[in-house]
Amino acid sequence: MKNTEEGDEKKGKNKKPDTAGAETQPVSNFIRNIIAEDLAAGKNDGRVMTRFPPEPNGYLHIGHAKSICLNFGLAADYNGLCNLRFDDTNPTKEEVEYVESIKEDVKWLGFDWGERLYYASDYFDRLYDYAVQLIKKGKAYVCSLSAEEIRNFRGTLTGPGKESPYRSRGIEENLDLFDRMRKGEFKDGTHVLRAKIDMSSPNLNMRDPVIYRILHADHHRTGGNWCIYPMYDFAHGLSDSIEGVTHSICTLEFEDHRPLYDWLLNELGIFHPQQIEFARLNLTYTVMSKRKLLELVENGLVSGWDDPRIPTISGLRRRGYTPEAIRTFCERIGVAKSNSIVDMALLEYCIREDLNRRAQRVMGVLHPLRVVIDNYPEEMVEEFDAVNNPEDPSTGTRKVPFSRVIYIEQEDFREDPPKKYFRLSPGREVRLKSAYYITCVDVVKDEKTGEVTELHCTYDPNTRGGFSTDGRMVKGTLHWVSAAHCVEAEVRLYDRLFTKANPADDKDGRDFKEFINPASLETLRSCRIEPSVAGALPGSIFQFERTGYFCVDKESSADSIVFNRAVTLRDSWAKIEKNM
Ligand code: ATP
Ligand code: MG
Repeated sequence: MKNTEEGDEKKGKNKKPDTAGAETQPVSNFIRNIIAEDLAAGKNDGRVMTRFPPEPNGYLHIGHAKSICLNFGLAADYNGLCNLRFDDTNPTKEEVEYVESIKEDVKWLGFDWGERLYYASDYFDRLYDYAVQLIKKGKAYVCSLSAEEIRNFRGTLTGPGKESPYRSRGIEENLDLFDRMRKGEFKDGTHVLRAKIDMSSPNLNMRDPVIYRILHADHHRTGGNWCIYPMYDFAHGLSDSIEGVTHSICTLEFEDHRPLYDWLLNELGIFHPQQIEFARLNLTYTVMSKRKLLELVENGLVSGWDDPRIPTISGLRRRGYTPEAIRTFCERIGVAKSNSIVDMALLEYCIREDLNRRAQRVMGVLHPLRVVIDNYPEEMVEEFDAVNNPEDPSTGTRKVPFSRVIYIEQEDFREDPPKKYFRLSPGREVRLKSAYYITCVDVVKDEKTGEVTELHCTYDPNTRGGFSTDGRMVKGTLHWVSAAHCVEAEVRLYDRLFTKANPADDKDGRDFKEFINPASLETLRSCRIEPSVAGALPGSIFQFERTGYFCVDKESSADSIVFNRAVTLRDSWAKIEKNM
C-alpha cells in the first residue's frame, strides 16, 4: 500500500506546533479513546494515519482550522501521519487559486504534510477501475433516468423509494455503457452510474446512490481527460483507502453517509479506514459555510476572501490573529459529538491572551486632539524610555520623542468631567505616560461648532519620566505622541460582521445578509502613531496602549501605513451585555 511502507525519516513525521496557552497537554476526547483502543488492539499494525480533505472551492475558515488541528494534532500525538488531500471531484466549482490559498493557510497554521500532498483527481484512473469492479460484481448499474426522475424515485424519509427500470440491466450492457460514458458519447445528465444497494433502505443515502456522473467540463488538474466524474461519497472513502488512512475524521453531517462509506469498501474488499464523525465548529455573529462566504465576497459585501471581518484563515491572519492563538482556541473548544455554537468572545479571548504576550507596545492616538505645552521650550526635544513589553522584559525599552506640541486622545479630555472621570479637564493634572505631569490651563474651541480644537497645558519639569519628585499623585495616565515626530496612519476598526448571534439560522427564514452590521468597519484616516512604527512590515503586530492590538495591513506602503485592529484590550461587548 502506498505511503505506508517507507521509513519515517523519509516522510517526516508530523510534529505538533506549540499552542499559545499554558495547557499543551492534549485533552482526552472520544476520538482519542477510539485511537487508543485501536492501538491497544493492534489494529492497522499500530499505524495512525489521518488526512485533511478540503474541497478547493473556497478559502479555509476557522471551522477548517478545527479539523486541521484535530487531524494533524492526532497524527502528531500518536506518532502517525496526516495527509493533505484535495477532494477535487467537482471541476466546475474548483480553482487553482483555492488550492494555493489552502496550502498557504495549512502551513501558516503550523502544520506540515511533508511529501504527502494528494489530490482525489490523481486517483481518477483507480476510481474508474473500482467502479468497473462494482459493475462486474453486479453491484453497480448505468441508470438512464433524468436527474428529476431519480429524485422522484428516491422516496421520502417515511416512504420507500422505487427501483429504476434500468436497475436490471445486464453486466455486459452496463460495462459497455459506462465505457461509452467515459469516451464522451453521451451528453451531460443522460446517464449516471449508481451503486445497487437497497431502494427501501431507511437511509436515503443507501437508495442506489449515484457514484459517477457525466460532466463535459475541464478539470484544473486533469484538463480534458475526463468527461465523467466520481461523486464525493464514492471518491472520498476510496481515496482514504488508497492512501491507507486509518481514521477518517469528518463532521457530523456525514454520519448518515457512513453506511455507504462502509458498503463501498466492503464490496470492493479493500483496506477499510474507520470513519469517525465530530461536531463542526459554529461561531456566534458570523457565518461559516464556504457558500455563504462566497456570497459575501461575490456581492461585494466584504472586500474579498481576506476581509478581516470574515472568519477565513486569510481574513484572521490579515486582522492580526496568530496561528498560536487559533490553535489554542481549537484545543480549548474540544471535540464533541453534538453540535453547538461557540461564543466569538472565546476566540477573542485567546487572541488577546496571545498578543498580550508577544505584542510590542507603542502609543498611538486614534482621534487626535492637539495639545500645546506652553512652558515647554519651543525647540526642545527629549527622548523617554518606554517599556516594549512588560510581559517580556527581554524585549527592553525604546526611545519615544517628546516636544512642545503633542496629540492626546479626544476622549481623554472633558470640559465638564463627570464624576469618576480622572482624565484631563480644565485645571486638572494628569500623567503623560513615561513623560511628564501636565495641567490643562486653557481650551480653544471652534467658534462656529464649539468643538474643542486645541488645549493649552503646562508641564512640571520635576515629574520627568512620569513620576513626581514630591510624591504628588495623579489619577489619570494618558497616551500621547509628539506632533513633530509622529507617523500619520489609517486605522481600521472592526466590529462583528452580523448583528445577530446566529445569522444563518433565522426563525422567520430571513436571509443571513439582512443581518449585516452596518458599523462593522470604521476607517480612521488621520491617526497619529509614535515614530517607532515607521517602516513596520505588513503583518507586524503592536499593542497601542489602551486601545487594542493592531496589525499592519498588506495595503501599507513605505509612505502610508495602514493598521487593522485585531481586537480591543477588553471585551467591550461583555460589558455592554452585562449592563443591559
Ligand atoms: P463548508 O460547509 O464550510 O463549505 P465543507 O465541509 O464543505 O465546508 P470541505 O472543504 O469539504 O468544506 O472541508 C474539509 C474538511 O473540513 C472536512 O473534513 C470538513 O468536515 C471539515 N470542516 C468543514 N467545516 C468545518 C467546521 N465548521 N468545523 C469543523 N470541521 C469542518
Ligand atoms: Mg464539503
